[in-house]
Amino acid sequence: MRIKRVKAMKNPQEFIVQKFTEYYRDNANIIPLPTSYKNREFGFILFDKGGMLRHKAFVEPRFFRDFIKSITPSDVYHSAAYYKQPSREMGKKGWIGADLIFDIDFDHLRTPCKVEHEYWTCERCDQVGVGKHPSVCSQCGGSKFKMVAWLCETCLETAKSEALKLIDFLINDFGFPPHDIEVCFSGHRGYHIHIEREEIRQLDQDARKEIVDYVLGTGLKVSLHGLMEVRRRTGHKVIGPDLNSPGWGGKIAKGVYDILVTYNIQQLNEINGISKNMASLIYSQRDKIFKTWNNGNSWGSIKGIGIKTWEKLVETSVDNQSVNIDTVVTIDIHRLIRMPLTLHGKTGLKVISIPSKSLERFDPLREAVAFSKGTLKVYVLAAHRFRIGEDIYGPYRREIVKLPMAAAIYLFCKRAALLTD
Ligand SMILES: [Zn+2]
Ligand SMILES: [Zn+2]
Repeated sequence: MRIKRVKAMKNPQEFIVQKFTEYYRDNANIIPLPTSYKNREFGFILFDKGGMLRHKAFVEPRFFRDFIKSITPSDVYHSAAYYKQPSREMGKKGWIGADLIFDIDFDHLRTPCKVEHEYWTCERCDQVGVGKHPSVCSQCGGSKFKMVAWLCETCLETAKSEALKLIDFLINDFGFPPHDIEVCFSGHRGYHIHIEREEIRQLDQDARKEIVDYVLGTGLKVSLHGLMEVRRRTGHKVIGPDLNSPGWGGKIAKGVYDILVTYNIQQLNEINGISKNMASLIYSQRDKIFKTWNNGNSWGSIKGIGIKTWEKLVETSVDNQSVNIDTVVTIDIHRLIRMPLTLHGKTGLKVISIPSKSLERFDPLREAVAFSKGTLKVYVLAAHRFRIGEDIYGPYRREIVKLPMAAAIYLFCKRAALLTD
């Protein structure tokens, strides 16, 4: 009976294309083109073809807008790079320079909830499951599966706090003015950060790698930031960077301070190289440690807590204070990035540009909604609990539900629902 009902449902592909077409018909004219757009390469992913349509260039915004209306892409990109002849093949474009870009995607972040909201669907029937897919579907014998990565609020929040950490680096360590930092919600799992400034255009891959290493804290030597043991006849003392030190010194101190304030004994014990006894000792001596921190830059002279232990705390601090960016994206000087106000083909949400100072208050699941009109009855194969706009939906499993358009399109884009008659 159930199978029969599924057969009466329709693949929503045509419907998605129709809605994307309507979106671009109504909104193409407000899509901002990047600065020096004549020198940028544009790329498009199309619904019916694999791969990307690349090496497009436009000499006027209206040509870009007409083009996007005529092809209805599922995803739209432009190069972070500037070229003399952007429509030529890669080796002949004539690279002039590139903006500095960073990508923070929760796909790369360690979030504990991930295992619960990533699952597979069988491509031949409506079987679904959590975790790694089986080799053969138990319902239809099929062997092709699709992994579905849901939008998760917790993961999006984690991505946002990583982006905020990065902005702090960019403003306070690198000295970029806040208004030169553009943050974009990608429409799916994270944020891009984009800096357009004359000074950084010419940076080559090695120079960009240096920036990445700094942000990741790669090869950071804590002794160079002042962590050392001072031995006296009266006992030993460990000194380290001050909370107000500039750059990594201050970040290390702040990170250690946060660990001491927020970690319980078990969390301290989970730090590599810290035994259970040591964790208990640190935990019980926290107040004493804070007291010595307030007396200048001495980190502590607590019996039993030596420099080796402080180094372990510092390692975790560096891990917590560094930003989880996708290295490859920043180093790649030919990278394509998503354009604000275009749609993401895996969600039907908009790419949104956010001033860096407003990021903290930004709610992607509300502000990136593109299809806010109408409702639709859909047959949901399987859906995780999710929020779009103000409301929470699901979880659903093989049922017909009436949903607001944005939620329906989101499920269609995830291949998690079918169109009903
Ligand atoms: Zn199956
Ligand atoms: Zn999550």
